[in-house]
Amino acid sequence: MTDTDRTPITRAFCAEADAQDPLAGLRDEFLLPEGLVYLDGNSLGARPKGALERAAAVIEREWGHDLIASWNTHDWFELPKRIGAKIGRLIGGERGGCVVSDTTSINLFKVLAAALKIQDQAAPERRVIVSERENFPTDLYMVEGLAKLLDRGYELRLVDEDLPLSEALREDVAVLLLTHVNYRTGALWDMAAETRRAHEAGALVLWDLCHSVGAVPVRVSEADADFAIGCTYKYLNGGPGSPAFVWVHERHQAAAEQPLSGWWGHASPFDMAVAFEPAPGIDRFLTGTQPIVSLAMTEVGVDLALSVDDRALREKSLALTTLFMRLVDQRLAHHDLTLITPEDPERRGSHVSYRHPEGYAVMQALIANGVVGDYREPEVLRFGITPLYVGFLDVWDAVETLRWVLDEEVWRAPEFQTRGAVT
Ligand SMILES: *Cc1c(COP(=O)(O)O)cnc(C)c1O
Repeated sequence: MTDTDRTPITRAFCAEADAQDPLAGLRDEFLLPEGLVYLDGNSLGARPKGALERAAAVIEREWGHDLIASWNTHDWFELPKRIGAKIGRLIGGERGGCVVSDTTSINLFKVLAAALKIQDQAAPERRVIVSERENFPTDLYMVEGLAKLLDRGYELRLVDEDLPLSEALREDVAVLLLTHVNYRTGALWDMAAETRRAHEAGALVLWDLCHSVGAVPVRVSEADADFAIGCTYKYLNGGPGSPAFVWVHERHQAAAEQPLSGWWGHASPFDMAVAFEPAPGIDRFLTGTQPIVSLAMTEVGVDLALSVDDRALREKSLALTTLFMRLVDQRLAHHDLTLITPEDPERRGSHVSYRHPEGYAVMQALIANGVVGDYREPEVLRFGITPLYVGFLDVWDAVETLRWVLDEEVWRAPEFQTRGAVT
């Protein structure tokens, strides 16, 4: 499909695209309820079939039978490092180290503190952290909390339509914190270009990969990023609340000091020494005991992502999101849907978002009718396209259901108007 292609897309075309899809077989690795179109894998990834078996093995054999010996015999203690090394490969992080631990919010706190400390030694006059007004709120909240705790005049400068990034990066900037793919619009930053620009301005760069890892090729070393964090329960399908990762470029590892200096980050945790001595390298970014069942399941999702060439995955993701946009153009043009995702394939991640004045009720009606996307304030319908298990007919069905919901005003039913705690 190209931009100039105006021939009407048919259901048969989508069926043929599925038949030709070299990655179609991967769907069999996931458990998805029959008849459900799941377009929310960017919020909670689907369950790999192997996750149940893995969790059962940990619970029955490793915990149930081998008990505490499993820290050694089943490598529990090494899991954060082993899975971290795999994610390091996934994000092209060969010039740094990666561990899996804690949450994205907590890892942000750890690396931002480390980055500010490094900058404080080199350039103490730099007191600004630049991010985006449109960033996922927890990222901004964590900056706020750390700035308050440090109480040394750190402030957040937010890029928005009135303040472009180029103008925000002045000589007072210590750290640039960007999310590679925006959670609401799906807009994708050029990681290499923005990192270069920030380095030229003397800032360190921290990338949040929550909405890119597993769906968009990431090359942190090639881009010369300083730090990266991200979660594993979205496109990596690690399971609800699965631990996040943190990657640090090798040039910072010896100097990086993170404040949550728990025993897992100690150079020799089982010496039970009184004083903290950071582990060499990336291991110092660990803090304490991890949820082992969840970690074990995380590895299943990460292994699946590693089994695929990420360029092929990207090609499929773009074909699917392009199909979604074209179908909406061709079949829903009479409705009040405003695309807020960049149309340029170079500028978008793997989800498609539209604004609609009744967005919340429309999404509830879609979900009740077997198409699961999600709703984000304000008025945004978000459709996550996980190329590992979403197919072309899924997109067709989703857009047709959306057309029906809007044509028939199905969303007006009272049960679609009330909001749950999690939207
Ligand atoms: C999903 C997401 C998070 C989630 O943070 P948690 O600590 O795992 O709750 C953080 N940042 C971004 C950009 C996200 O998309």
